[in-house]
Parts: sequence; C-alpha cells; structure tokens
Amino acid sequence: MISEEEALAAVLEKVRPLSPRKEALLDSLGHFAAGDVWAQRPLPPFDNSAMDGYAVQSASCRAGAKLRVTGEQPAGADRCLTIQAGEAIRIFTGAPMPGGADAVIMQEDVTREGAAMVAQCDVAPGEFVRPKGADLAEGQRILARGEPIAAQTLALLASQGIREIEVGGRPRVAIVSTGDELAPAGTAPRAGQIFESNSLMLHALARAAGAEVALVEHCPDDLDQLISLFRRALKTDALIVSGGVSVGDRDLVKPALRELGVEINLWRVAIKPGKPFLFGRAKAAFVFGLPGNPVSAFVTFLKFVRPALLKMSGADEDLLYLRRVPARIGTTISHTGDRPHYLRGRLQDGFFNPIGRQESHALFGLSRANALLRVDRGETLDAGAMVLVEIWD
Ligand code: AMP
Ligand code: MG
Repeated sequence: MISEEEALAAVLEKVRPLSPRKEALLDSLGHFAAGDVWAQRPLPPFDNSAMDGYAVQSASCRAGAKLRVTGEQPAGADRCLTIQAGEAIRIFTGAPMPGGADAVIMQEDVTREGAAMVAQCDVAPGEFVRPKGADLAEGQRILARGEPIAAQTLALLASQGIREIEVGGRPRVAIVSTGDELAPAGTAPRAGQIFESNSLMLHALARAAGAEVALVEHCPDDLDQLISLFRRALKTDALIVSGGVSVGDRDLVKPALRELGVEINLWRVAIKPGKPFLFGRAKAAFVFGLPGNPVSAFVTFLKFVRPALLKMSGADEDLLYLRRVPARIGTTISHTGDRPHYLRGRLQDGFFNPIGRQESHALFGLSRANALLRVDRGETLDAGAMVLVEIWD
C-alpha cells in the first residue's frame, strides 16, 4: 500500500492541463488564467481629482487666500483647462486635472464669494490628486498564469479595456455510483436498500472544483452493465466512480475497467478513511475509483480528485491542495491505527473539534464538518495544541 503523498504525486504526475480557451470576462469567473496578463495602459490613465472641490496651485492656496474661479472641469471629457497662480478651477471626483494645477482643495474647506473662493486651510502639493500610473504602471504584470479569476480580477481586467481572456480548459467529468443496495432518489427502497447519496455529493464537489458534470448515472453490481456504462463515461476527461473498488466479490469496478483496457496506476492508499482509492488511465479519460462509504468518497475526492481537476483546469500548483489554517484543538486526540486518520471536525473561532461519529459511513457528522485534521499513526495531540487543519470552502 502506498502513502497518501506517493499516491497524490502519482496522480499529479499523469494529469496534464487541458487546452486553454478564450472566454468573455464574466464567463472566466472562477477559472484560471492561461497566461500572464500585462497592463497595456497605466492606472489611473491620467492625473485626476480624488475629491469634489477646486484644482489649485498649492503654493498660492494658503488659509485665507482668495482665488478667482476661472472654469469648471466635470468628470468626463477633458476641457484642457489651465490655471495660473491665484486661480482655481471647480473640479469633481475623477475629472482630469487642469494644466498648471498641482493639488485639489476639497469643497468642504472652501467658502464661495461670488466668482472667487476663499481657502479655509493650507494645501500641500499633490493633495487629493490621483497621479497617472500610481496604481498600475504600463507593462506591469496584473495576472499570472494559474491565478484564479475573481470578481475583483474582472474589474481590474475591465479597467484595461480587456473583454476576453484565455483561461484553462474545463474538465468534463462523468460520475457513476455503483451498488445493488442503492435506491436512486424518487424510487422506493426495497428491504435491505438505502438511498443513493454519493453521486449528488460528488456532483457538487466536482462543480465546486470547476468541472462540468457531463454524465451522472447509477449502475448495479453487474459486470456487463458496468462495462457498457464505463464505455460511454470514458468519453469525458475524468470518470469518477463510487463504490465497488474494494476487495469483495461484488466489487466489479476493477474487472470492468480492465476489460476496457484501462491502465490501473494505483489501488489502495494508506489513509483512513479511503483505503481502496483507485486511479487509472484510459485513452482519453482519467479514472478515479472512490470507496462507496460516503465519508471515504468525500475525503478521497478532496485529497486526490480535486487536485487533479484543478490541475486540468490550469490552476497554479499552490492552489491544488486544500488550504491549511492554524487552529487549537479543543480536546485531546490520539490515534493508534495503522494509517493516517483524517478526522472530520468543526473549525470555529480558531478551535477545531472533531464532530460526530468518526466512521466512514457516518454522514451526519460529515454534514456538520468544515475542516479535516490529519492525525498520524501513533500520534497524540493534547487539548490546546496548535495544529494545521485543512478546509475546502
Ligand atoms: P462499497 O465501496 O461498494 O463496498 O460500499 C461501501 C459502503 O458504502 C456500503 O455500505 C455501501 O452501501 C455504501 N455506498 C456505496 N455507494 C454509495 C452511494 N452511492 N451512496 C450511499 N452509500 C453508498
Ligand atoms: Mg458496493
């Protein structure tokens, strides 16, 4: 059995970013830049006023000074006004600075006397002026390859007049749940059956990782049916199967994949929950076989499938892994098992506490959890100790 680190390295070694595509800015939200983007114009593009007030020459604008107001410059078209010492131009936020002016006095610090204004305070050079290029210089890198595009990134790109951007490809995934004991939602479970719940969870997780879910189907534990369903599902970029990858006689996922010529790169990883995890490769698609127990499927998705989907999407290496945040543990935790254990728990106000039953079928605790804590074999963590927990939101 290989370690979690070896398994993840093996997955990421095989998976490659998909071909990039051009998207309208809004459609690029949540995706990853396919290349570096450079500023083509400075920001602000011209010196402009940060306030509603009067553009002045600071040297002639002392408390008590009376300046003649010679014109008005609203935000918008540049009237190309200029001033001399002793003059002022009425100006508004975002309006281009008149020639000869080096500061703005805000209107709250001025009294009007007919065609003149009287300053109520001294003005320093550059006051309330937003100089050209102070925020962003032409040629400066504004986005790096692999960075995610957020709402504020869209604003930055739009400020450059950019309307389209190249982003990483979006993986198309197929989700297949397996098991004779599973009744799809909307049907009546027979005696001995439970409702099928993994496919919805995996659908949501795949979507949150930026994938497009192209197929979601359930299959009984029947070799022929698995083969024909997998044949269709392998036309995507990734097939995610839940259940049927363990060692039981009814665990037919591996034989079905083999029948289709899928190369099984790894099977069984030393983590708890999630030991039977499988990773393989067909001609076009990668295959992720997740254990059927819901908690195991959840943890192995986050640990192995999510990084692979993000890498396919062109995400930067640093973004492939779950974010680690420091926390104090609220209770003493020890682990005597043979595999590193991922405890599901709740991170709140800087404290992490395990939540619910820590068994791989226990869905209720998982539903309340927002963080994972890895406890290595033989490790004891005392209450109050600082640890790093992993979060997925
Ligand atoms: P398996 O990995 O197929 O041996 O399944 C392990 C456990 O997970 C069994 O108790 C299954 O009933 C349960 N299980 C498997 N697939 C699902 C599913 N899609 N939804 C809910 N439970 C499942
Ligand atoms: Mg099964």
